[in-house]
Amino acid sequence: MPIKINYAKCCWQDGKCTSCCCGSACVGCVEACPVEAISREDVVKIDLTKCIECGACISACKHQALSTE
Ligand code: SF4
Ligand code: SF4
Repeated sequence: MPIKINYAKCCWQDGKCTSCCCGSACVGCVEACPVEAISREDVVKIDLTKCIECGACISACKHQALSTE
């Protein structure tokens, strides 16, 4: 199933981290993805043409913003 982003839970908004837990960007989904399918732009974006649905980003996200549901 495709990965979905709950933007209300994601701390990356308007091009910056809003959780203040780790400086300018949380370490999570982008770093966890083995195929570089995720990018932080104005909001987090997932390139579903690259995604292999491994679930690594779901495990890495501290804000439970990613899911397959
Ligand atoms: S499920 Fe895996 S491949 Fe797809 S975006 Fe998440 S980490 Fe990347
Ligand atoms: S790890 Fe979670 S909270 Fe952080 S940018 Fe990715 S989806 Fe958003």
